[in-house]
Amino acid sequence: MQQYLSQLNDAQLAPTLQKDGPMIVIAGAGSGKTRVLTFRIAYLMSQGVDPFNILALTFTNKAAREMKGRIARIVGDSEAKNLWMGTFHSVFAKILRIEGDRLGYPSNFTIYDTQDSDRLISSIIKELGLDKDIYKYKQIRSRISSYKNSLITVKAYFNNPELMEADAAARRPRMGDIYKHYVERCFKAGAMDFDDLLLKTNELLTRFPDVLAKYQDRFRYILVDEYQDTNHSQYLIVRALADRFQNICVVGDDAQSIYAFRGANISNILNFQRDYDDVKEFRLEQNYRSTKNIVNAANSVIDKNQNKLDKIVWTANDEGAKIKVNRLMTDGDEGRYVASTIFESKMQNQLQNKDFAVLYRTNAQSRAIEDALRKRDIPYRIYGGLSFYQRKEIKDVLSYLRLILNPADEEALKRVINFPSRGIGQTTLDRLIVAANAYDIPIFDVIKRIDELDVKINSGTRNKLKDFVTMIESFQVMNTNANAFELSEHVVKVTGLIREFNKDGTPEGIAKMENIEELLNGIKDFVEGQKEVADTRGALAEFLEDVALATDLDADKGDPNHVALMTIHLAKGLEFPHVFIVGMEEDLFPSAMSMNTRSELEEERRLFYVALTRAEKQAYLTYTLSRYRWGKLIDAEPSRFIEEIDEDYLDIITPLQEQRFNPMLDASIFGDIEPNKVRFAKPKSRKVEKKDAKSKPENFKINAPKKLKPVSKTTNTSANLFDSKLTVGNIVNHQRFGRGEVMKIEGAGGDLKAEIRFENGDLKKLLLRFAKLEIV
Ligand code: ATP
Ligand code: MG
Repeated sequence: MQQYLSQLNDAQLAPTLQKDGPMIVIAGAGSGKTRVLTFRIAYLMSQGVDPFNILALTFTNKAAREMKGRIARIVGDSEAKNLWMGTFHSVFAKILRIEGDRLGYPSNFTIYDTQDSDRLISSIIKELGLDKDIYKYKQIRSRISSYKNSLITVKAYFNNPELMEADAAARRPRMGDIYKHYVERCFKAGAMDFDDLLLKTNELLTRFPDVLAKYQDRFRYILVDEYQDTNHSQYLIVRALADRFQNICVVGDDAQSIYAFRGANISNILNFQRDYDDVKEFRLEQNYRSTKNIVNAANSVIDKNQNKLDKIVWTANDEGAKIKVNRLMTDGDEGRYVASTIFESKMQNQLQNKDFAVLYRTNAQSRAIEDALRKRDIPYRIYGGLSFYQRKEIKDVLSYLRLILNPADEEALKRVINFPSRGIGQTTLDRLIVAANAYDIPIFDVIKRIDELDVKINSGTRNKLKDFVTMIESFQVMNTNANAFELSEHVVKVTGLIREFNKDGTPEGIAKMENIEELLNGIKDFVEGQKEVADTRGALAEFLEDVALATDLDADKGDPNHVALMTIHLAKGLEFPHVFIVGMEEDLFPSAMSMNTRSELEEERRLFYVALTRAEKQAYLTYTLSRYRWGKLIDAEPSRFIEEIDEDYLDIITPLQEQRFNPMLDASIFGDIEPNKVRFAKPKSRKVEKKDAKSKPENFKINAPKKLKPVSKTTNTSANLFDSKLTVGNIVNHQRFGRGEVMKIEGAGGDLKAEIRFENGDLKKLLLRFAKLEIV
């Protein structure tokens, strides 16, 4: 047996050595699914499978690169290089470059990123004279995206009265028209958006049997990581390609399905057995990533989901430290707590910045964390914000380059036709767009043929437009004999971009210059990297494709020793020794938008499971009593997910602030209320899972006595039930466990616990600051 296979346990070896046929590995977090895929590829190659015949689809390009690197270390660089590996989008973009002409696309088609799509949609809304407050471009974009991912074409849309009625009911009766215009405009511009890369691949494989046969024959072995998050469009592609040889291996974890909101379909994993014959199913149960405390805590949370496959996850790792739960007053305090904990922990445990990650539910939460880290001089990096390639100055340069390759690219043209300024105003551009629509040709062609067409533009402006076209065409000539780096350098000079950013001399201007320099360096690296690769297709085209599909995770720039800040969604598949999950508050996590149905809430819970299982050694959970959201200070209440963790795995830290504001200790802050009348009230009733709603006692919330008027806002924001009158013998109602009798009370302050015997016989010890109890 090959040496490397000794790095797998027996359960992992089984799927690794199962060479042929359809197979699925379903296993919990950290159990080695990704590792199995990696080793399996190496094993296939050792069994004589040509790397050219292997296709591996990963969640990020970074994951693909890392996997390839590991395989290269086992089988050698030159072999690994020929593997087809990457995200669905990047792999199928490459195939569409080769085959796209069948669908009427040029091989140098542009990939529109979200920003381009948004601009085009906004422009269409304006051209159709629609109200942009009703037709919000972001919502429109996500509608269009969901149509495409469900393979609903424009034609299918107009054949589907239900869809049309739904949009009409949402006050957007012209939705279909926008969709139609959007699709036509993209096509005319020789552009595909992200969803098109999947939609058009499906179209290609369905309409052209010879193309399907070609790629079925090429991809004899297909492997998919994170299968639980494939959407319908991706699912169909995999099924079509695997249909002939049926050598398909998918790995995933239903408990980590977190992209339903973007159309991912958990039933893909559940139905795999139905789709193929003789599916071999494998389970992995041993977690290698995390301590016992973390694994058990995560298990106890995901256990609360009803819709799941039964799985066992255990670990032989150390018990480890308990999960630290900390309550802070504000998000500023939360940031400071994170920063000082990292600072001290680095000192005490000889850790590095890169050993820490801070995960949050929404991007907006990063600001307070960033501020605090900066004050402590702790280097950090935010992943998933505006990517480098989406910065204005970078997009300007890239738009010129895109236009050189594909002059029909409308969004690129609109961006740079008057930047730097050359006296071509918005009115002129509007007229050009109208003409382009009327003659059904790209704007670039309108300009080229402006003298023969009927366009109202004066001769001075015409000359400026012609100069612009001449400049772009001169770049196109240069592109045939210079490399991408030489061309880009020439472009930033000749267009005046460099001068434009240089001239203001402000720090922002200088930063922009540096970014452009960085971009040019990147292109240079790329060109040099290309020299080593045997098939050098147009370097510029390939560079632009990489850039369009780069996620922020992919750009490994700068010092790698930094604290990682990212949303939980982005952290999928990753691992860090120490993980902070911040903003553990109701309406934030679980998100306010996801509490209408059980399935939405279960998706949030899976998201929490993903977050917790990123941690190897130590997890921290923090929540605040009040938080700025949408510009207002909002009372916060601890997330139900904290309460859902089995208390044995928690280490609740009672911070000093709490002592200070604990009304049990200092009733005077309540003004004229006698201490024994003081009750801690939940500020508002909690939205409950629909299914549970009926069985809930009507009056679940405990209202504060009417005359209770806290003088300090903070006291009123306390989210914990903390009833001073709770005594042994009380009958209480618990949100989830039902009715029970208080048997014992112990601890003090934030650690006050009650032992309760519930009607079903369970005896539970609950921490009163989290338990949602009501005295009956
Ligand atoms: P996730 O569900 O989060 O994607 P996963 O199932 O893909 O997790 P991996 O990332 O493959 O799990 O593995 C988790 C960690 O455990 C990695 O650091 C991996 O190197 C390590 N690991 C997996 N299997 C073994 C093993 N047999 N021996 C030692 N380490 C292992
Ligand atoms: Mg994985």
